[in-house]
Amino acid sequence: MRVASSIVAFLLRLTVVLAVLFAPAGVPRAETTGLTPYERAHVEHLGSIRFCADPDWMPFEWVDGAGRHRGIGADILALVAQRVGLTLELRQTADWGESLAAARSGQCGLLSFLNRTPEREQWLRFTEPVFDDPNVIVTREEHALVSDPHDLAGETMVLPEGTSIEERIRRDYPEIRIVLTASEQEAMRMVSDRRADMTLRSLIVAAYTIRNEGLFNLKIAGRMPEYTNRLRIAVTNGDTILRDILDKGVATLTDEDRERIVNAYVSIRIEQPVDYDLLARVVGGVIAALMIAAAIIWYMTRLNRELRRQSRTDALTGLANRKVVEMRLGAEIARARRRSLPLSVIMVDVDHFKSVNDHFGHAVGDRVLTGIARHIETGIRRQDLAGRFGGEEFVVICPESGVEGAVGVAERIRLATAAADFGLGHPLTISAGVAALRPEDTMENLLTRCDGALYAAKHAGRNRTVA
Ligand code: GH3
Ligand code: MG
Ligand code: MG
Repeated sequence: MRVASSIVAFLLRLTVVLAVLFAPAGVPRAETTGLTPYERAHVEHLGSIRFCADPDWMPFEWVDGAGRHRGIGADILALVAQRVGLTLELRQTADWGESLAAARSGQCGLLSFLNRTPEREQWLRFTEPVFDDPNVIVTREEHALVSDPHDLAGETMVLPEGTSIEERIRRDYPEIRIVLTASEQEAMRMVSDRRADMTLRSLIVAAYTIRNEGLFNLKIAGRMPEYTNRLRIAVTNGDTILRDILDKGVATLTDEDRERIVNAYVSIRIEQPVDYDLLARVVGGVIAALMIAAAIIWYMTRLNRELRRQSRTDALTGLANRKVVEMRLGAEIARARRRSLPLSVIMVDVDHFKSVNDHFGHAVGDRVLTGIARHIETGIRRQDLAGRFGGEEFVVICPESGVEGAVGVAERIRLATAAADFGLGHPLTISAGVAALRPEDTMENLLTRCDGALYAAKHAGRNRTVA
């Protein structure tokens, strides 16, 4: 498992190259700018537009020592502006929070490179996406792969303050504990230093930071495909004409434009002359590695799902196991109390089952139990939950049912079982006990009363239901 997880982490790290290559996919392209005379006049009228950026979001965008806006987003913005004839001027800020505040108070007319969110849409006008980049979960090396983020209940996720991701994680995964920090790098470092269990970062940024900061105890433990960053330019003051003008510039961006821009930042780290033959082989290798990684992830996801299913299911009959029955019964008791609803429980026990084992052997006994489980499944209603409680005893939870409803269900199961042919040469019967929830009941009381009713059914001659 650990070896597989290291392989996946390693391969996921490799995917950065491919992510870069694929990033432009799905973004529409067009050939010409085509501003209307009115739009051209608007551009004239606007003159130089001040914009705000994230000064600390490498390699997407940052502000260098000379106060220049650099990075993938910076080059895309500059290209878009150039194509529609806009003049831009950076308004410097200390951090992204200050950029947002400056944008809100009208001190900059554009935000250069950001995700669209419902909250932001209330005060910003967004262009079409200029760049796509998937988000990944970054953990320390020893963390298990994450196939379903709901499994992360109680773990801490550190996120830079004020990002769209924070809003969405709080909404979609309220069980994850969020810790906030000032910067991107700090978030990754906090995971590395064990001050948080994980962070969620763009694949490109995560790989960039792991390498540049030497945080080699980190790995990419999973993807959040529904959290792909679709980065856009935003207009801050409701100027939809300016937004439409920018969109015309965005529409001129081609895949080649984006590739060239991304490569300008990615290739900074390749300090060798480009050997195209080698490059082709490396890209081919990465594609192959990616396919293997995808296969491993698919396998792990399936394995995890299967393990979760197994931990909830009785292996012989396929019904819910005792743990699940007890959990569900606890929840149903609470719900019945809260909403003043009735709730009943049926306990089923096979009559003289020991003699089936004694006469026909354990394997036949097992088959009979599975057959009875099928009659129970068929007999219950949609809202009921049936489980194997142990041995040849089953429990059915009947939410929103009084005694009569539950007795009806029990009788259906009993009659179907008595009429069935289990291949034993004689009929097989069951006995059932039914109890309804009383105001003062604990789960234990309720089950004890149910067991008492079952005992009474046995005592009265079996093959019957007693409430
Ligand atoms: P009664 O009508 O009083 O319930 O009689 P009974 O024979 O069914 O009751 P008893 O509790 O004495 O016997 C239950 C038997 O169920 C004993 C045990 O060997 C058998 N049993 C429990 N679990 C399994 C199982 O998973 N497979 C098989 N084949 N038998 C099982
Ligand atoms: Mg028994
Ligand atoms: Mg029995």
